[in-house]
Amino acid sequence: MAKINENYLKLPGSYLFSTIAKKVAAYSEQNPDKEIIKMGIGDVTKPLAPSVTEAMHKAVDEMGTAEGFHGYGPEQGYDFLREKIVEKDYKVRGIDIKPDEIFVSDGAKSDCGNIGDIFAKDNKVAVCDPVYPVYVDTNAMAGRAGDFENGHWTNLYYMPCTEENGFMPELPKEKVDIIYLCFPNNPTGVSATREQLKDWIKYAKDNGAVILYDSAYEAFITDPDVPHSIYELDGAKEVAIEFRSFSKTAGFTGARCAYTVVPHELKLDGTELNGLWNRRQCTKFNGVPYIIQRGAEAVYSDTGYAETREAIRYYLDNAKIIRDALTGSGLTVYGGENAPYIWAKTPDGMKSWDFFDKLLEEAGVVTTPGAGFGPSGEGYIRLTAFSTKENTIKAMEKIKKIL
Ligand SMILES: *Cc1c(COP(=O)(O)O)cnc(C)c1O
Repeated sequence: MAKINENYLKLPGSYLFSTIAKKVAAYSEQNPDKEIIKMGIGDVTKPLAPSVTEAMHKAVDEMGTAEGFHGYGPEQGYDFLREKIVEKDYKVRGIDIKPDEIFVSDGAKSDCGNIGDIFAKDNKVAVCDPVYPVYVDTNAMAGRAGDFENGHWTNLYYMPCTEENGFMPELPKEKVDIIYLCFPNNPTGVSATREQLKDWIKYAKDNGAVILYDSAYEAFITDPDVPHSIYELDGAKEVAIEFRSFSKTAGFTGARCAYTVVPHELKLDGTELNGLWNRRQCTKFNGVPYIIQRGAEAVYSDTGYAETREAIRYYLDNAKIIRDALTGSGLTVYGGENAPYIWAKTPDGMKSWDFFDKLLEEAGVVTTPGAGFGPSGEGYIRLTAFSTKENTIKAMEKIKKIL
């Protein structure tokens, strides 16, 4: 008889967003005349930039001609895109990355999850708490997380990110092999400075560990002390894989394009991880559509860059509106300066879900309870800057009134 992967049965249901949706539906049924403003959206809302859609249109037309048709492309991505990435995302920052170290993909979510394929099952994995659930659940599916007991996976090493440590994980007190880091962070919106990341490179070197660095929100960085890439740090190429995405950078959440960097210097027991990831991608992945990669390439043109940065500035302006309003109402807030997320401490030690209910019922504003991202998220809510400016202002006025 065929057998299922029983690790899937160990996964707890992901109730966060379905519970929120149910609560919002119940509220609007009871209050049909009350407006609801969604400040929990984890997706971009601005349309694709004109340069991007223009490049995509052009590629569509090419595909309809005998000369311009493209069938299966390289699994690793077209050279035109890999070379642009090398030039504009790394070389300008003084980082030497080779085109064959770039693997273009359909998403950082898939890559963060699939990367586990090239690592043995008995690696000890460290994750932040609160955390982007993809890192945790994909390791659970691979049988690397152990069992789920009392809100924790028995084999994962959790690194609490709390107010006391400035939401910066502390170096593991036991030996771990794989470390997921995400800066600027989802959900806390906090970013890591060069100085803070240095210790992680050293830890990884000393312990033969690999850092999986999720840099999906790199484009939101405004602070010069915050590195855009982990490779800005000496020695990082020997210990880290970096994930980037066009999703938040250029509004590609529905178009799907991302990339992962696996430097040749990164070796375990003399084996280059670059070769393993290449093998994995060539076997299980057939590349990103030509049309989409042409769209992604356009993000690096002068106009494409200007247009996409304008959208980011818009979101960052919203983030500032949120920060100022909540601070003005007496709340303690974090993030929102180099990230589209604001991590707000609930007043008077309220539970995340209770504060979520209060904001929904009294102000008609939907947020995300921090406890949904892990035990250390209790006592916080996450707000996002992805709404319109008008709605952001309106939501903040409503919150101010009730606090
Ligand atoms: C949005 C997001 C991504 C990007 O995922 P894509 O699959 O590229 O859309 C990656 N990591 C984190 C933490 C995110 O929030």
